Amino acid sequence: EWVNFNDFVAHILDRFDMIVKTDKKENKKYTIKRELGTQALWVEIDTDKFAQVIDNIMNNAIKYSPNGGTITVKLHSEQKRIVLSIADQGLGIPREDLTKIFDRFYRVDKARSRAQGGTGLGLAIAKEIVEEHHGHIWANSSEGNGSTFYIALPYEPMSEGDDWDEV
Ligand code: ATP
Ligand code: MG
Repeated sequence: EWVNFNDFVAHILDRFDMIVKTDKKENKKYTIKRELGTQALWVEIDTDKFAQVIDNIMNNAIKYSPNGGTITVKLHSEQKRIVLSIADQGLGIPREDLTKIFDRFYRVDKARSRAQGGTGLGLAIAKEIVEEHHGHIWANSSEGNGSTFYIALPYEPMSEGDDWDEV
């Protein structure tokens, strides 16, 4: 399905904005800061699967952050790709774990993770879906200061006149 990735992300974040008031289980407050730009970025994606990718990363950002954190979501386009970044102010991830967290069942702190619940599959699933779309997913972090997850997707800017000339 062709979607404007900009709108697509905005709609998913709208849902998270509403969860703030109703999320009894986590009982956490968080603020989402959006820097999505206004340019339409058309990409062909499996929308159900890609919504799951963003859900998994957003849920982690909330789960592994203390109460009251800000999650900053940015989207920008480069020449041949678009990059979405989701940055939290949470626990952070040790450098040596930054690539392993995308493995099935890998969790940084076993005791902590068990207390938090979950299976350790969220990022493995996200990686699988992003790579099905010929994209890349990776993370940066400084321990104690939060983590940033990046998703890059191939992108062909539409030049003015494309398609419309023929109509
Ligand atoms: P599930 O997503 O299946 O409920 P999970 O959250 O433990 O369980 P993943 O989403 O795959 O599994 O994440 C793997 C591990 O990476 C987590 O257990 C956690 O240790 C670490 N992690 C993921 N996201 C963050 C984050 N934003 N901040 C700190 N640690 C994170
Ligand atoms: Mg998770």
